[in-house]
Amino acid sequence: MTDGKQVYKHVVVVIGGGAAGLAVTSALLRAQPDLDIAVVEPSGTHDYQPGWTLVGGGCMHQESTRRPEADVLPQGVIWYQDAAAGFDADNSRLSLASGEVLEYRFLVVAAGLKLDWDRIEGLPETLGHNGVTSNYRYDLAPYTWSLTRGMTRGGKALFTQPAMPIKCAGAAQKAMYLSADYWRQHGLDVQVGFCNQGAAMFGVPAYARALDAVVEDYGIQTHFGHNLVAVDGPARKATFSTEDGQQTLDFDMLHVVPPQSAPDFIRDSALANEAGWLDVDRNTLQHVRHANVYGLGDCTSTPNAKTAAAVRKQFPVVVASLLHELTHGPAPGQYDGYGACPLTVSRNTVMLAEFRYDGEVVSSFPMDPRVPRRFQWWMKKQVFPWMYWNVILQGRDWDKPDHKPYSV
Ligand SMILES: Cc1cc2nc3c(=O)[nH]c(=O)nc-3n(C[C@H](O)[C@H](O)[C@H](O)COP(=O)(O)OP(=O)(O)OC[C@H]3O[C@@H](n4cnc5c(N)ncnc54)[C@H](O)[C@@H]3O)c2cc1C
Repeated sequence: MTDGKQVYKHVVVVIGGGAAGLAVTSALLRAQPDLDIAVVEPSGTHDYQPGWTLVGGGCMHQESTRRPEADVLPQGVIWYQDAAAGFDADNSRLSLASGEVLEYRFLVVAAGLKLDWDRIEGLPETLGHNGVTSNYRYDLAPYTWSLTRGMTRGGKALFTQPAMPIKCAGAAQKAMYLSADYWRQHGLDVQVGFCNQGAAMFGVPAYARALDAVVEDYGIQTHFGHNLVAVDGPARKATFSTEDGQQTLDFDMLHVVPPQSAPDFIRDSALANEAGWLDVDRNTLQHVRHANVYGLGDCTSTPNAKTAAAVRKQFPVVVASLLHELTHGPAPGQYDGYGACPLTVSRNTVMLAEFRYDGEVVSSFPMDPRVPRRFQWWMKKQVFPWMYWNVILQGRDWDKPDHKPYSV
């Protein structure tokens, strides 16, 4: 695998400097400041993706969701601004796109997932034009807001949701409710359609029932079993595959959530499961075949909701396992599948859907989580971004604060 290339050795190598990779890296360095740890991350910027829903709804500034990667990487880490390209897990080696090779004692894979825009015919060329938008891109979220405000004469708006798994399963309907509430407040006659490849508003039945009532209240027309396959931007037509064949719907505004899959370099490797995701144990997050490999965040096979909220509960498990191996620290814990989806059901209320593996409903507050509340809107807008930058990315375990000093 080396082909005469330089091999760099590190105790821990982390693939990905997103939410999951940074949380693990920061937490390890807080526990062991002299740890030899490297992060492989090609991007020069880091995005607070959960903020894009609010940007698309005109409730957050786009710029506040992006920071230079160099500013969010913890001190003491070695940064390879490069992309992971292939594994040689039997020899604990990783090759990078530049051709360099990293050798590790432990590997943490946190490379996120791939947005498959080009699996929808005609979509890549029309995105950002002809009324076609998506909150899944930093540059396009403001276009969602501009289209929403631009429907001054009414019209037809479609919001699409692909097959699961995707990151933030609620993102399509969150965008829809923020726009629908705006149109209602301004008395605009916009016919709203929700085209979902799946058969229900949400994967957890208790929340799905509560969301049915929200959809009914807005008068939204649902089209279940509808999977977007083609977009003709100039003609403003969206084509869906359905059980009964193809159906084409007209639109003035189309918000698309793209199909999603595991990154190619994971999918094409021996570390993937059949579906292409990094094959880890759902509780320990340790690779099922390679004991010195861990994975967390959106790239793994665990059947939880792919969210930053899940990362918040996953990274302490991975960090405890690594510290147990490195320093014989306390026995590691287990990840219980926690995920959360702050559903922006209006422009000032949120239904904070929280759940664990197998659809178990949980709540961080002593209240019914299916009830939309104003204080949870405030959390989504103010508290969660603060927690993201200052708690999760700093590797602080919210449930077990350690109050140790840290470098900035
Ligand atoms: C519109 C939208 C709304 C969302 N809303 C919410 C929400 O309300 N609540 C919530 O909890 N979550 C939400 N999420 C999901 C959340 O952002 C993700 O689940 C979270 O970022 C996952 O973290 P991650 O580190 O696994 O992936 P990411 O944060 O995406 O990071 C992956 C990193 O890996 C890097 N990478 C990619 N390929 C390679 C490679 N080959 N080598 C090295 N590095 C690589 C990428 O550049 C990236 O920096 C939302 C996401 C979107 C898009």
